[in-house]
Amino acid sequence: MSGHDADLLVLGAGPAGVAAAVMASSLHMKTVIVETDEVGAKVRAIGALENVPGGWSTGPALAEALTADIVRHQELGRVTLLTGRAVRVAGYDDRAEVALGDGRVLTAAAVVVATGVTTLSPGDVDWIDACEVGWLPPLWRAAAEDLRERHVVVLGADRPLGTWLRAHPGTKVHFSVLHPRSDSYKTDEVTADERVRLDLVERVTVARTPAGFRITAHHPVGGSHTFTVDTVLTNIGAKPAALEGLVTGPDGYCPPEVQHPRVLVAGDLKGARMQRIAVAMGDGSRASLAPYYQAQVVPG
Ligand SMILES: Cc1cc2nc3c(=O)[nH]c(=O)nc-3n(C[C@H](O)[C@H](O)[C@H](O)COP(=O)(O)OP(=O)(O)OC[C@H]3O[C@@H](n4cnc5c(N)ncnc54)[C@H](O)[C@@H]3O)c2cc1C
Repeated sequence: MSGHDADLLVLGAGPAGVAAAVMASSLHMKTVIVETDEVGAKVRAIGALENVPGGWSTGPALAEALTADIVRHQELGRVTLLTGRAVRVAGYDDRAEVALGDGRVLTAAAVVVATGVTTLSPGDVDWIDACEVGWLPPLWRAAAEDLRERHVVVLGADRPLGTWLRAHPGTKVHFSVLHPRSDSYKTDEVTADERVRLDLVERVTVARTPAGFRITAHHPVGGSHTFTVDTVLTNIGAKPAALEGLVTGPDGYCPPEVQHPRVLVAGDLKGARMQRIAVAMGDGSRASLAPYYQAQVVPG
């Protein structure tokens, strides 16, 4: 390890980070994985999964499997799980370096950054004015029992709408989904669900009232209408959880090919497209193999 804390540092313990750590450990690379929350924190909150090889159909089941993978490799003595927030990453000729929020600095031959994406807030998009309200909870983390029999305004028609409805087929809810034109292509999978009313808007204003929220929806044609509800959830997409020191593109994502050779990016953080669990796992494994092959005397 030439005086480093590990052969490989992995930031984020989602599908990409866990795949990176498991691959590295199986190659006998000492690995430190840094996670701010719990292993599989994102997928744990996803009620229904599709497209995941191995038959995983719910997020909690997959999160348990990821946790078991990390525990098994911890027991083998090759993986250390650190709870902490990575804040900065840097690549040098002889090492990769990561600074944590608590001031610790870790070094290794390479680092895999797999911190994924975080949920967008109303302040991140120009079609919602909710500055008086501040943060609003995202739909994809909402529990069915909290929404049962409720009239809920959902801001945005991003894909988690279909996921939530599929995960809770028997839950009686009424979702008024106010969405911009740019979301229209994502609405096909929910148009047949009678729990959903789709409403194309140009702009939405959200204000707090003693009983809940006052919503004013401005339509492309036909003026505006105002009504009150007690629950408003966001469903407006995500933004990359990029760290200081990464090279970002115009959209804020971190393409792997423009990073320092010792800084490897995997999973959703790479780009807005191809954000899938299977892709993230493949990326993570591949990212760990790069420093492994680089360290070999005989190419193979
Ligand atoms: C509602 C919803 C439904 C989805 N359904 C599907 C589906 O059916 N099929 C499918 O294939 N994909 C689905 N996805 C996408 C899938 O969840 C992602 O593609 C996948 O989780 C990406 O894995 P990742 O490891 O790149 O990122 P993540 O799973 O987001 O993991 C990143 C990890 O990094 C941690 N982290 C973040 N910042 C830091 C930091 N600074 N320091 C340390 N740790 C940090 C986070 O806590 C997290 O645990 C869905 C996503 C959502 C939101």
